[in-house]
Amino acid sequence: MMQAFLLSFSLAMVSLQGPSPTVAPAFGFPVECTVGQTCLIQKLVDHDPGPGRRDYRCGLLTTDGHDGIDIRLRTMAEMRAGVPVVAAAAGTVLRTRDGEPDVSVGERGGRAGKDAGNAVVIDHGDGWQTQYSHLRQGSIGVRPGQRLGAGERIGLIGLSGNTEFPHLHFTVRHHDAAIDPFVGTGSLVPCGVAAPATGLWTPTAARSLGYAPAAVIAAGLASIAPPKPVTDRDPPPALAGPRAPMILWVDAMGARAGDQQRFSIVGPDGRVVHDQQSEIADGGLSWFAYSGKRAPATGWPRGRYLGRYALRRGGAIVAKIDVHGIIK
Ligand SMILES: [Zn+2]
Repeated sequence: MMQAFLLSFSLAMVSLQGPSPTVAPAFGFPVECTVGQTCLIQKLVDHDPGPGRRDYRCGLLTTDGHDGIDIRLRTMAEMRAGVPVVAAAAGTVLRTRDGEPDVSVGERGGRAGKDAGNAVVIDHGDGWQTQYSHLRQGSIGVRPGQRLGAGERIGLIGLSGNTEFPHLHFTVRHHDAAIDPFVGTGSLVPCGVAAPATGLWTPTAARSLGYAPAAVIAAGLASIAPPKPVTDRDPPPALAGPRAPMILWVDAMGARAGDQQRFSIVGPDGRVVHDQQSEIADGGLSWFAYSGKRAPATGWPRGRYLGRYALRRGGAIVAKIDVHGIIK
């Protein structure tokens, strides 16, 4: 009798006071956009402990010490149209900051202490937090203490703080340490091994977040070489007329030294009017290039032109785009 009583008592103690395992929240994709179409993953979390850079798939889609994920828009026009940023998981708003202008850091210089620009921090409990940085001025629609459900809108993608292109810098932290949501609190999958793990993402988010080692951000046919900064390419240049040069320009990401690039322009009659190939010496995180030629003596024939760009690595195409332009 006594023994039975003690046994049930001790069991109750275990269930009441035993350590409950910390379960990380599952994070949904924090932007209302489609990766590869209306937005791109430009940078991932850096896993290189030294001065180098290495993303979770052993690629170079990061910069030294980058602690979050950059989800970017291709153009300023898309930013102005408004792309909502949403809570990745349910939680309570911890902090917000608004009032920082949407100006490229290249134009106005650094802003010490306000690198994140307009931002929201959400507490998810058990030491888990998410931060949403570089939001559009005046777009933050939540306040500290407010409870949010997963997927609730908190603001818009912007250009505030330390950034040169419109994007969301999304950081996951656990007890103040940055965590790569593609990896979670476990260890990295070794290089060369396929990584099926979904990390901390919900199954839906994981499906939309496939790893793209390279992508074309923007491209076009124009009569002048456009400026490299996204903010200065607004509106993007177009073809001026039959007597002006014709240039195919490309802004890509993830290009590597040794990659082959090919620029082709096809005329209204289907004939190739320009074709140029070259090897990339050093791509870096973003790669801006153009190729073209002067108008023929008789001028460009009127009609629709096709600009075609392809980036190859080891024979396989890793990024490509087709764009069109009209000679009136
Ligand atoms: Zn970033």
